[in-house]
Amino acid sequence: MTEQSKIDALRAQAVPAQGHWINGARALGNTSMAVISPIDGQQITTITDGTAADVDRAVANAKTAFDDRRWAGMPPAARKTVMHRWADLIADNALELAVLGIRDNGTEFGMAIKAEPGSAAATIRYYAEAIDKVYGEIAPTAETHLGLVHREPVGVVGAIVPWNFPLMIGTWKLGPALAAGNSVVLKPGETASLSLLRLAELASEAGLPDGVLNVVTGNGAVVGEALALHPDVSTIAFTGSGATGRRLLEYSARSNLKRCFLELGGKSANVVFADSNLDKAAKVAAGGIFRNSGQVCVAGSRLLVEATVADDFTARVAEHAEAFRVGDPLDLATHIGAVHSERELQKNLGFVTDATEEGATLVTGGNRILAETGGTYMQPTVFKGVTPNHRLFREEAFGPILAVTPFESEAEAMALANATDYGLAGAVWTRDLSRAHRCIRAMRTGVVHVNCYGGPDITVPLAGVGQSGNGADKSLHALDKYTDLKTAWIEL
Ligand code: NAD
Repeated sequence: MTEQSKIDALRAQAVPAQGHWINGARALGNTSMAVISPIDGQQITTITDGTAADVDRAVANAKTAFDDRRWAGMPPAARKTVMHRWADLIADNALELAVLGIRDNGTEFGMAIKAEPGSAAATIRYYAEAIDKVYGEIAPTAETHLGLVHREPVGVVGAIVPWNFPLMIGTWKLGPALAAGNSVVLKPGETASLSLLRLAELASEAGLPDGVLNVVTGNGAVVGEALALHPDVSTIAFTGSGATGRRLLEYSARSNLKRCFLELGGKSANVVFADSNLDKAAKVAAGGIFRNSGQVCVAGSRLLVEATVADDFTARVAEHAEAFRVGDPLDLATHIGAVHSERELQKNLGFVTDATEEGATLVTGGNRILAETGGTYMQPTVFKGVTPNHRLFREEAFGPILAVTPFESEAEAMALANATDYGLAGAVWTRDLSRAHRCIRAMRTGVVHVNCYGGPDITVPLAGVGQSGNGADKSLHALDKYTDLKTAWIEL
């Protein structure tokens, strides 16, 4: 069987109605929501439209599992074995997980197979290894006293994740939270729940005790709000929009002052100096904004180009944009899949209208395509002559739209790069090592790429600054979000 025929067989499989995953079992609710595929606009199945009562039940189970220490109290080596078994199961079921997720959210297969089950398995393995390698401290006290610093799990973690890359972002929360011994109630994006429900089932199969990981599906304004207001949830680990992030902080203030870690959006700048390898930079810059139709938090959605090469470079990027084959994300010949939903597509087209009205110049793209499929697809789109006054310069479109702005000097480039409220990622392209180091320092972002874009692995943090959020996902630093420090002070 070829890979394409395996994918086609999996995509033809019917998906039964999906319930929550609570206390190690499926729980169908009274009401459901249709799951519509962005590939063709057809209904795949339904998910349970969760209620505040469902959240109460999931949190109660998670709390019981935490309080009786069925997971935190297991020997570290045994917990590590469970998480490794889980990673093995994710890897064994990678194709099924990838196809299920793509039917739900439209990411092209080439990207999804690596970024979703591929990175989820790697993430769970990484944090499995941390279980018996990250531990407390003995403080350098006077001989009269002994100071021990313990790392304690925080309790019940509410993880709220978006529809793009549910497995990757989901495991960025689940890996460190579970490795630290917590229980979790996970709320997937309402339009990308299927692969995360399957992930939770695989965790149980691997031996994770019931109640330690629960998944409640449904609307953010109901399920997400109930989770974030819940008095027995001690920490919210969130990825999504700034608007929802603000609400979470309010919910925390109105409830139990739970900690909220927010991984939010970005408007990342790809800064290209004339001395760089322009062929490579153009190809990578195009990939850096257009893969997954631009629905990547760290997407290089602003291109700042040294004025002497700006027109030529923009033309090269546009050529790459036009060469991408946009279409069915489950066709292996496709480069770029679907925009996630009709709502997202209309939002993107609104950015095109506004950029045109505000005086930017459309270089390529700008239109919906393949409407006859019933799916939601958009041309990779490039605007030049974008200024800091334009909405496209300041606001995250979260779609396949690139804003090009020329600059005259390094100082101007850095000022433009930092002229947004966000601070998630960025890149600098130059052959001048000293300038590269200066730009790394000058860019106020969580990640700076040099002569590349994207691809850092689990060993390094992703930690936005400004209105891109707080706290780090990935790396050992992520464990800090899910542990409390406790001092034991002993007189000798
Ligand atoms: P969103 O904020 O609309 O939704 C995210 C999650 O929050 C979903 O599960 C949703 O149901 C839930 N939610 C919505 N309203 C809520 C409420 N009132 N209370 C509690 N929960 C609620 O974001 P989205 O459209 O799903 O995701 C796209 C955004 O995520 C973009 O801004 C993107 O940049 C960002 N993102 C950031 C990162 C990162 O690592 N920084 C990664 C991926 C995506």
